[in-house]
Amino acid sequence: MRTKIVAGNWKMNKNLEETEALLGELAAKLPDTSAEVIVAPTFVSLSSAVQQLSQSVIQVAAQNMHFAENGAYTGEISADMLLAIDVDTVIIGHSERRSLFGENDELLAKKVKSALDKNMKVIFCFGEELDDRKSDNHFKVVETQLKNALFDLTASAWSQIVLAYEPVWAIGTGETASPEQAQEMHALIRKTIAEAFNAEIAGNVTILYGGSVKPNNAKEIFSKPDVDGGLIGGASLKCDDFIEIVKAI
Ligand code: PEP
Repeated sequence: MRTKIVAGNWKMNKNLEETEALLGELAAKLPDTSAEVIVAPTFVSLSSAVQQLSQSVIQVAAQNMHFAENGAYTGEISADMLLAIDVDTVIIGHSERRSLFGENDELLAKKVKSALDKNMKVIFCFGEELDDRKSDNHFKVVETQLKNALFDLTASAWSQIVLAYEPVWAIGTGETASPEQAQEMHALIRKTIAEAFNAEIAGNVTILYGGSVKPNNAKEIFSKPDVDGGLIGGASLKCDDFIEIVKAI
């Protein structure tokens, strides 16, 4: 059985006090669930979030990290720094990192490798842009992103990887891929991994969908057989919406 996950990517939202308030509300309202629930607040709130959630099943992830162990990388954060505050999960490759901060497949492959070397869990994001879909290139683009960043991994490393398929045209736009579009892509992702590695790895990897998941569409998207949960942006900032999405899984 694959692990189901609902993860909230808070992006550059919520200061320390606001983070504490939202986490308190989430922890109090979280329903019983067999799914993993993860939140990714901003770096400055991570340590306090870990402490606040020490008695909760809600896990804490970072939104990014640098590939180097340490050194002259002003403004950056290393895997060891995250691990030192008990954060062992990191989102890598979010489309905003790619489009706004110039992160390409080569850099992302390095980040994934360093996170895995430190035994961290990686939520690896990828997905096509609108033009790719309009020109019917979306499958090719997604396959290439996967291959470039992840296909040099050893087979055993896949147990530390969670994939998040996030069509860029659906992120923060209110436009959602239809459940059928999500299923079609998730099935292709699984097939690509089965061909490059094996059917067991492909069958075991959790693949999240991300892109304007809301309480009113989560259930239908999550009902698809190859969709194992969601990476949630906007709706993860509102306690009741996020809780409804957790209930939908
Ligand atoms: C995201 O940023 O990963 C995301 C899916 O955002 P939203 O849910 O707001 O589209």
